[in-house]
Amino acid sequence: MFLVSACLVGIPCQYDGGSCPNDQIQDLATQGGVLPFCPEVGGGLPTPRPPAEIQGGDGGDVLEGRARVVNIEGKDVTAEFLAGAQKALRVAQHWDIKEAILKARSPSCGVGQIYDGNFSGRLVEGDGVTATLLKREGIIARNEDEWEKEEAQ
Ligand code: SF4
Repeated sequence: MFLVSACLVGIPCQYDGGSCPNDQIQDLATQGGVLPFCPEVGGGLPTPRPPAEIQGGDGGDVLEGRARVVNIEGKDVTAEFLAGAQKALRVAQHWDIKEAILKARSPSCGVGQIYDGNFSGRLVEGDGVTATLLKREGIIARNEDEWEKEEAQ
């Protein structure tokens, strides 16, 4: 069983009200192998919502209080991102889930790369807030591209 970013199975929870369904992950879902969760919605944010990025660091810095998550309108949404990450962890632990497939580049779910905090489209190395917390708690987290590559091997 995988914890999966809900937008990857077609649930319209992205900031713009859309989703980003991934065929292989949807196949996995039809076999009952995934538990979809959206940490931003889980943390209390509406859909649609203004896009947000981590400013001043990565997900680990947010967890440690050294960076914050701010939306494009300048509103600090760090508390909602932290709440969503904690809920994602609780869901994973409740169902004894050991692996996650998370949406690439998201400030919550991103694994390996996130946007730089300036809404410029530039990517930097780092994980999102939820991805970092899951990893720190021993859950294997991959983005959908990494998971697809491993599945193809
Ligand atoms: Fe998808 Fe994660 Fe963003 Fe929710 S927070 S829309 S699950 S990438």
